[in-house]
Amino acid sequence: MSRKKSSASKPAPKKFGPAKPKPTPKKPLADKTKGISALRGMKDVLPPGSADFLELRRLAEAIATAYGFGYIETPALEQASLFIRSLGKTTDVVDKEMYIFEDKDGTRIGLRPENTAAIARAFVSHGMHNWPQPVKVWYWGSMFRHDRPQAGRYREFHQFGAETLGERGPVVDAELIALAYHFLKDCGIESTVEVNSIGTLEDRQQYCVELVGYLRSKRSYLSEESKKRMVRNPLRVLDSKEEQDRAVIDEAPQIVDWLSDESKKFFMQVLEYLDELEIPYVLKPTLVRGLDYYTDTVFELYEEGVEEAAQNALGGGGRYDKLIEYLGGPATGAAGFSIGIERVLGGLQARARDAGVHEKKKGGFFLAQLGEQAKKQALVLMEGLRKGGITVSHNFAKSSLKAQLESANKLGVSHTLILGQKEVQDGTILIRNMDSGIQEVVDQKKLKVAIQKLMD
Ligand code: AMP
Repeated sequence: MSRKKSSASKPAPKKFGPAKPKPTPKKPLADKTKGISALRGMKDVLPPGSADFLELRRLAEAIATAYGFGYIETPALEQASLFIRSLGKTTDVVDKEMYIFEDKDGTRIGLRPENTAAIARAFVSHGMHNWPQPVKVWYWGSMFRHDRPQAGRYREFHQFGAETLGERGPVVDAELIALAYHFLKDCGIESTVEVNSIGTLEDRQQYCVELVGYLRSKRSYLSEESKKRMVRNPLRVLDSKEEQDRAVIDEAPQIVDWLSDESKKFFMQVLEYLDELEIPYVLKPTLVRGLDYYTDTVFELYEEGVEEAAQNALGGGGRYDKLIEYLGGPATGAAGFSIGIERVLGGLQARARDAGVHEKKKGGFFLAQLGEQAKKQALVLMEGLRKGGITVSHNFAKSSLKAQLESANKLGVSHTLILGQKEVQDGTILIRNMDSGIQEVVDQKKLKVAIQKLMD
């Protein structure tokens, strides 16, 4: 992620003294697994970092529930035609990035590159237009795009998103933007919302005629990629992050001048609601989003102070009032957004680095046992604590106290419970403060209460 330089990022101090011997290069993981490695652009989510991942999911669930959204899960695999028809054949996601294959029955399968089309399909499949309207759903799951992997861009990534289906109203768009904005805030990220309106399909067709005329007149100044886009999907030229295209895009006719009165009024109302909700936004006349199904409001969220670049958007979304009808359902107003979880995690980690926050706060408990009897008793004690909602780590593979305290230190726990032969016989247990080394003896029957006190 390209970040604005902070004063905290000083150059590394020069090292003096005799040159250290070079460490022997580690064997690549693929060698260790007899040539089988994770696929390019896909990664394992491992502890302890996975705790942040779970925390974000918890925050997503909490805020989406508070805004009245119910959880939806659709399959990761769908008929490829769902995405091709909904997103548009000439969009980058479909044209270049989709995983498409034939299954054993000869069905053309697509791994979902995003979730809106699948949710619209589910809306039609389950006759959700007969449910109380609007239907408000949130999701969390893996998406797949065969893109060129780089920082912030993976081939499997996770999105948290929300959709409101069955209502066309500016307040819906404002509520979705507020939800996305406050989710990021809950994650500790201050964001800016970029917002635009791309009008109805008819507005857009008329605008595109004007845009193509303009782009043709500037063709020689455009990057090779934009020259191609100009023919296949001219709106996407406005999305270009190539420096070479900057001047041409800045001077381009603006879609807002082609909006129908209805779309203009709708957009103004969205902005009024955002003002009311005190959501900071920036009008971005060149924001079009990459997919065909969008109509009217479109938006993207960026971390404040982080330079805008294609792989820096934390999330985005918009209105898609024609999609459900297009998939065979009744005319249904709908809007939604999605946020890339890896980008949010990347932003948090970058900020922690900038602030020099390396030390994790200590917390949690570890149970060390000495001897066979103590091991058995430890299992019983841990079971009791677990039932009371208290999780205790252990390392039964180690038998010496020293080795177990080392494990406890590595886990960063605040206290270790020590159970030796004497304690088993007395019905007591030691609680050791890992920072001060002070130990207190506690009756095993009162252990839960003692731990709860420490947790408080
Ligand atoms: P999009 O609908 O393509 O704008 O995607 C919504 C959000 O998903 C983006 O703002 C990113 O945060 C995230 N995202 C999209 N593509 C990728 C990717 N290849 N790798 C990681 N995150 C992605």
